[in-house]
Amino acid sequence: MKIKHIKAYPVSFPVPAAQSVRLGIGRSVKRDAVLVQVLTDEGLVGWGEAHHGRCPGAIAKLIDTTLSELVVGQDATDTQGVWQSVYKMQIASHGLGAGAAMALSGLDMALWDIRCQMTDWPLYRLLGGRSKPIKAYAGGIALGWQPTAALVEEAQAHVASGYRAIKLRVGDTPALDIERVIAVRKALGNEIDILTDANTNYSLADARRVMPAFAECGVVWLEEPFPAHDRHAYRSLARLAPVSLASGENHYTRYEFETLLEDDCVGYVQPDISKTGGITETMRIAAMASAKKLTCNPHTSLTALNMAASLHVLAAVDNPGYFEGDVTTLNPFRDLLGGQCPYTLDAAGCVKPTEGSGVGVGFGVTVDVDFINAHPLIEGPCYV
Ligand SMILES: [Mg+2]
Repeated sequence: MKIKHIKAYPVSFPVPAAQSVRLGIGRSVKRDAVLVQVLTDEGLVGWGEAHHGRCPGAIAKLIDTTLSELVVGQDATDTQGVWQSVYKMQIASHGLGAGAAMALSGLDMALWDIRCQMTDWPLYRLLGGRSKPIKAYAGGIALGWQPTAALVEEAQAHVASGYRAIKLRVGDTPALDIERVIAVRKALGNEIDILTDANTNYSLADARRVMPAFAECGVVWLEEPFPAHDRHAYRSLARLAPVSLASGENHYTRYEFETLLEDDCVGYVQPDISKTGGITETMRIAAMASAKKLTCNPHTSLTALNMAASLHVLAAVDNPGYFEGDVTTLNPFRDLLGGQCPYTLDAAGCVKPTEGSGVGVGFGVTVDVDFINAHPLIEGPCYV
């Protein structure tokens, strides 16, 4: 079975002002994704999600032109071979390009979708796992830099809906961040896990300042205090930090994770299947983390495809960490792309991979093409 055609669909939806969230990367005004469709000469159609890279039109163009020329005609079940051919031409020989890794991620996911359809097996089973509960945290783009009272109210609502772990956006001023974390801990009690994410917005001094209070509040991790390339700051903070660091959503391919793991600064790794090189590469990264006795905690991207695939991968690795639940109020790409949100919380705050069976439901998500066509690309930045 050969790859016959590849097509990328850059898609967007606007975020109404009342539902806009502020965090370390700005204020959300729209959300983007790039959906990748792969057609085979035997009529199967696979779908994947490439991260938008804040330039969805460019990622889509890369898929429709260069990647398409590279892989059309290749064996559609040869995920390793397709991965290697894109890596060789676009990443190895032209630097470790984030855009190429994102484009490859969507293509690789679509090929795994096709493998699922061929076998009529859910992804977790194809990857060697079984359906099992995975602890979820309330994350995604919410719990942002709002006034403390409103934040406490939102956190309590997520706990009331079943979450036993939540992630707070920090990276504001250290004083406000400390105030928010203390208030949420006080309101939720000690049984709920609190995670924090600075979205690369801290200086080393900021991070050192918040650490004692975060430790006192039992914060599980501080995510991305600094940009991924700022290895010196990570090493400096990790030497003294009483709270574990987490990173990985902006690390591309196993080669950047190798450096991250060698630096020995983080206690949690967070590959994003739609950024780091797809399902093929995330399984490799999870194994590398496993060798260091670290859990794999995938960062989730925007659509039901990424969320469902992340959950299947977590059910298939020997070191599953948290699943990042998306608690954004308005996310039609989560709820409507496949007709429903691809996961439901159980009474213990855990989620299980969706089963799915038959053509078009490899990850348990049946993509609605009319819905895609109704959400064309909106140009411009998604955070301002
Ligand atoms: Mg993050």
